[in-house]
Order: sequence, then C-alpha cells, then structure tokens
Amino acid sequence: MNFCKITVERFRNLSDVFFSPSPGVNVIWGDNAQGKTNFLEALWLFTGAKSFRGAKEAEMVPFGAESASVSSQYEGGGRVHEASYRFGADKGQKKILLNGVSHGAFSGLAGSFYAAVFSPAHLTLVKGGPPERRRFIDLAICQLKPRYHAVLSQYGRLLYQRNCLMRDARLSSVLLDTLEIWEGSLAKSAALITRTRKSYLERLGEFAGEIYSGISSGRETLSIAYHGTADGEDEEAFRRAFRASRAQDLKTGSTSVGPHRDDAEFAINGLLARAYASQGQQRSIVLSLKLAECAVIEETAGESPVVLLDDVMSELDRERRDYLLNRLGGRQIFITCCEPDAVAAAENGTALRIEGGRAAGLRAL
Ligand code: ATP
Ligand code: MG
Repeated sequence: MNFCKITVERFRNLSDVFFSPSPGVNVIWGDNAQGKTNFLEALWLFTGAKSFRGAKEAEMVPFGAESASVSSQYEGGGRVHEASYRFGADKGQKKILLNGVSHGAFSGLAGSFYAAVFSPAHLTLVKGGPPERRRFIDLAICQLKPRYHAVLSQYGRLLYQRNCLMRDARLSSVLLDTLEIWEGSLAKSAALITRTRKSYLERLGEFAGEIYSGISSGRETLSIAYHGTADGEDEEAFRRAFRASRAQDLKTGSTSVGPHRDDAEFAINGLLARAYASQGQQRSIVLSLKLAECAVIEETAGESPVVLLDDVMSELDRERRDYLLNRLGGRQIFITCCEPDAVAAAENGTALRIEGGRAAGLRAL
C-alpha cells in the first residue's frame, strides 16, 4: 500500500504542500517546528483512526482558518483510491470522501488505508503509564476493526453514566435502582473490548517475540500479557466486578475496574520490563512491537502498511536504525528528521524539505 499523491491544502501550520512520494523511503526534513510531524499526522488520519498525538479535530484546524483540508491518492488492494477530508469548527464543514462516497465520520475511512506510526513518545511505552499502552493497543485495533471505535465510544459513554451515578447517588440513593441496568450494558462493552484486546495482543506478541529474539541474537525472550482488572473476560465476570466494587466506587465517584484500568505487561526472560528493563532493552521492545504491528496488519488486511517514523532515527543507535530500515524494506516509509543525513543508509527515495509549513525543495536520495 502506498501514497501516490498527497495534497495538504490546509492542516495545522501546513499550507499548499503537494507531494508525489516515492514508493520507497521519503525523508521529510527541516528545522524544528516547521510542520514535519503535522505532515505525518495529516497522513495518519487516512487510516480512519484518531490523531496519533491524541489531538482533537479543532486543534488541527489552522489558526484563523475555517477548516483543515487534505486529499490523497493511494494504491491498495490492486486499485487506486481517492480519499479526502475536510473539517472545521462548524460541524457542517465536515466532509469525508472515499472514492466519491461521503462518510459522516473518519471511521468511514477505516479498512481502506493502513499505516503504522512510530514516534519518540512510543519509546516510553514500556516504562510509561498504562494509558499509553492502552492507547497503543486501541489505535492499532481501530484500524483493523472499524467497528471497534464505536465500541470504545459506547463504553466511554456508559462509563461516564456510571461515574455520574456513583457521585449523584450520595445525594439521592434511589438512583442506585438503575445501576444494575447501566452495569449490564457496561459489562457487555467491557467484555467485547477485553476479548478484542487480548486476541490482538496474543498475535502481536507472537510476532514481537520472534523479532525481539532476532534483535537480541537469540539471547533474550520477550513475552506480552494482558493484565485485566476483572477476574475474567466475559460479561458475567464484569457484572460481578462492577457489583463488587460499588462500595469503593461510591466513595470515589469513579469506576475502579474495567478495560479503562487494564494494562499490558511486557517481560524479558520472565522479568517485568516496566521494573527491570534497561534503556536499550526498552528501545528493542518498542521496535519489536512496532514491527510486529506492521506484520499483524499485513496478515489481517493482506496489505503492507505505510510506515510513519516521526523523529525516531536520532533516538535509536546505529545498529537498531539499520535493523529497522532493513526490516521495513519493501514498504513505503515517511521519516521525519532535522538533517537528512540521519537516514544516510536509505536509498531510492525522495527528500522533501518543509519550511514554515510549506514545501521548500524536493530531491532524490
Ligand atoms: P520538531 O522537529 O520540533 O518535531 P516539527 O517540524 O515536527 O518540529 P510540528 O510538530 O509539525 O513541528 O509543528 C510545527 C508548528 O505547527 C508548531 O510550531 C505549532 O505551533 C504549529 N501548529 C500546531 N497546530 C497548529 C494549528 N492548528 N494552526 C497553526 N499552527 C499550528
Ligand atoms: Mg516533530
């Protein structure tokens, strides 16, 4: 799968960037704060998932403009697709088109275009907090299962309702009569999310284990496990868990169990990576996870994802950099960096310079 044409009319600080990328390596380079990451973010949205930076749509509309507007042409599944999006503060501005068909939301694009993104923020995936790991898993699944996004949103809404009940019930205990019903629906979504995450992690873990073993020349093994807050993954287990946590949740006005509190655990040679992994081991784990993510997309969708590498080259040592570029061979890659020398090993591609949100020169690598 690869982009043939990209037109960023307006997106954050970017304007009028027209680019016909190489099917191989594309280096997006320039000084700090010129719009390199913004460019990758604009491309990422074609996956139909939310911004990989966790940004809201309003934040991506250029300051002082009415809307953001980006269009692209990409090859996938043996044909050329035309996709475009436009959104602004005014809801009526929203227009998401895929091959001439209009969709009400970005999720309408899911299942047509696939990408994997790797940014310095991912390097803290191992030692960072559980929300980062949950976001990583959820974003990856959203691309592969377009319906998953709706399940997550519904879970979020039901959770909000239960939390409100937990707070308001302190003033009016009669509200607790409706709790059983809310918890029933919440348990249903919770079970679906947990099962989906577990089966995704299982497959991801198999690929990542193999890759990690390669990076460490067979000296170390990586294992991944899902750590749930309920003692089971079916609806009934969650009903029980919500019921059991009511007394505590009434005190805090929140919900202490459920997929919004779950975590993924990585271990090297059986030792918990969060507690014991060295810097180098953490980087190798993240690299393995990202490459495994590409492999799962390939297996599930039958398409090679476009790979977006935001600023990671300078964060990886030479050996890991070469390993990454070698393993990614054959896919379309977009790499951002300040100096194109950071990817000197790359051949057969283009380098696009971004300056002040505009294209400022294109050359072959
Ligand atoms: P670095 O090398 O430091 O990572 P970068 O080239 O990746 O830099 P970006 O993150 O793409 O930089 O951001 C470039 C600029 O875009 C920032 O200075 C930021 O203030 C600006 N920016 C962000 N959102 C908007 C917006 N909605 N409208 C206009 N400008 C914006
Ligand atoms: Mg950047």
